[in-house]
Amino acid sequence: MGIIVQKFGGSSVANAKRVNNVAGIIADTYRAGNEVVVVVSAQGDTTDDLIEKAQEINPKASKREMDMLLSSGELISASLVAMAIERLGLPVVSLTGWQAGFITDSTHGAARIRRIDKERVENELAKHNIVIVAGFQGINRYDDVTTLGRGGSDTSAVALAAVLHADVCQIYTDVDGVYTADPRLVKNAQKLDEITYDEMLELASLGAQVLHNRSVEMAKKYSVKLEVLSSLEKKSGTEVKEVIKVEKMLIRGVARDNDVARISVIGVPDVPGIAFKIFSLLAARKINVDIILQSIGRHGTKDISFTVSRMHADQAVSVIEEVRPTLRYEQLVCDSTISKVSIVGSGMVANPGVASKMFEALSEANINIQMISTSEIKISVLIDEADSERALNAVHNAFIGD
Ligand code: ADP
Ligand code: ASP
Ligand code: MG
Repeated sequence: MGIIVQKFGGSSVANAKRVNNVAGIIADTYRAGNEVVVVVSAQGDTTDDLIEKAQEINPKASKREMDMLLSSGELISASLVAMAIERLGLPVVSLTGWQAGFITDSTHGAARIRRIDKERVENELAKHNIVIVAGFQGINRYDDVTTLGRGGSDTSAVALAAVLHADVCQIYTDVDGVYTADPRLVKNAQKLDEITYDEMLELASLGAQVLHNRSVEMAKKYSVKLEVLSSLEKKSGTEVKEVIKVEKMLIRGVARDNDVARISVIGVPDVPGIAFKIFSLLAARKINVDIILQSIGRHGTKDISFTVSRMHADQAVSVIEEVRPTLRYEQLVCDSTISKVSIVGSGMVANPGVASKMFEALSEANINIQMISTSEIKISVLIDEADSERALNAVHNAFIGD
């Protein structure tokens, strides 16, 4: 038998009963003869609660101190799960991210894993211990604690599975797999037995938080066999892999992302170099731009609109306001009540009419499209946030239905 990495999300370890349930799953896997490495997230809403606590004390707290605070949630879970396993009479050890060898870059709040020094974990496995690792965290080269971004424990788990050459990385969560849409928002969403890395990566990047997008990227890069399954019900989940057996569906899934703000720079001179000016300024501040739309010039001026995450909206506005004298635009508008709804499927490249079917569904639901963006395997539209749940359902029904 080989190494199995199991990851349990916040709701799976939310209280004592759930922690004991998780310990039971881990114990079964260990007793079946496997070496078991477990990654845990903070309990329930702990991370949100910690953010709130920080806000009360200092809304402008440094990212370093935020990471110090947020990393503590996962430590609580790791030790509690270890205690539950001790009680079952099995050998276990819990480790912080740094004890488990997670070395990251210094981007506090969104750190990237540079390497994992796996000796400690391997030594514990050699001693027949079950190893419980606090997810979502590591240290940078100055030994400061970093976190990997919201939802990052999935990435901790896949990274460990990759370096340990685990047989499988199982992501246990509060749904029993990946669905064609968020089952909490779309009642007739269907569970997928399998999905490709590429499709899952698009869905995760477009708002399906069931997997952290970087975990999927990493699973693809290192060919980690990934499974998404429920910690509450014993049934098969969804396998994420390179190629899948099932016939290509036109659309594999639909996703919504509410973390979108649209900024429009209206009436800029219609001359070369304007787009360069705007986007180089944003890039210099490390503000990531998603969809960009430029109107055709008329009477010597044009409009440029783009989207950023809501967290960056204010900063993007002030960057552009600062250069108003050189950009000479007429008006700057920022709207943070925008949502992005996307369809994903590798089958759509070879099938004309997918876009028109999506737009038809939205038009029948009387939903106005503000911007459109397409790639080989996805189409995204920007709409009013207030319409987003209706849009998600309308588009899902058009392609996937009951
Ligand atoms: P965990 O705490 O286990 O990491 P998350 O809340 O991060 O769990 O992710 C699980 C949630 O993802 C589900 O409860 C579900 O509402 C949401 N979700 C969004 N899109 C999808 C999808 N396509 N399939 C399944 N779940 C989805
Ligand atoms: N606890 C962290 C969060 O809530 C990481 C995770 O759950 O994966 O974002
Ligand atoms: Mg998650």
